[in-house]
Amino acid sequence: MDATRNSAAAPLLEVFASIQGEGSWVGEPQVFVRLAGCPLRCSWCDTPESWLVGQGPSQVFGLQGTQEHDLWASPFIVLTWILSVEPREPRTISITGGEPLMWPGFIRGLAAIKGPRRLHLETAGAHPEALAAVLEQVDHVSLDLKPHQDMGSPVPLDVEGPLGERPWGEENPQTPAQWRLARRRCLGLVREHDACAKLILSAGRSAQDYQVILEDLAQSAPAVPLFLQPVTPCRQISAPDEELLTEVLEDARDLGLTVRVVPQVHKSLGIQ
Ligand code: SF4
Repeated sequence: MDATRNSAAAPLLEVFASIQGEGSWVGEPQVFVRLAGCPLRCSWCDTPESWLVGQGPSQVFGLQGTQEHDLWASPFIVLTWILSVEPREPRTISITGGEPLMWPGFIRGLAAIKGPRRLHLETAGAHPEALAAVLEQVDHVSLDLKPHQDMGSPVPLDVEGPLGERPWGEENPQTPAQWRLARRRCLGLVREHDACAKLILSAGRSAQDYQVILEDLAQSAPAVPLFLQPVTPCRQISAPDEELLTEVLEDARDLGLTVRVVPQVHKSLGIQ
């Protein structure tokens, strides 16, 4: 599949300036570009409003207040909105979602015009072909390692933009074997790249549930740092207890991984 066949425009939910709350760049002031559309269904998803591509509008939380725009936006238009929300000096841009790899053409387009800003990608790690299509254009990849037990059945995106824009058509993983294959392929791609891996831990799981993920990371990308992220409680999902957290942490250390425990910092600060 060729990313250039994807139109560069993408459906945009919001652009805002905030503090990175996860992963190895935690605490950095960034501008977040949240794209709409995700075919995956994580049980603890904190942005379910991003799953479907609605009719808009996009929201830009700028220095002059909130502005609404058309849902579908080109990289150039989004860059003008980034400029409007940056408080002062240019910031790192984090492209998030939704699953931003539904729109690799947009990511490549924004990378070409972003100027001095770093471009970071936050992805579910389910679509290795799309990741390969943008990898050289992004400065950092934050890759989720999804426990298949936490994943509902995927719902393929069926949407078309005003100029015929279509989401990336790669198959969504569903079975444990498909998830493992996608995970290992994504990890293999980022093993020499600036990247981190995130694993969300929740109550009701055992350390054994996470073991295969730790082993995949140790085998496919052993130098990529791992961030264990206790889930922020939502709906019926609770945070893991200390025993589970410690056990997974020690399992990761036993495998020689560089591992840290970091909850969602922006949530604890009460910011977006
Ligand atoms: S991949 Fe991200 S946006 Fe999609 S369901 Fe999971 S957490 Fe939510």
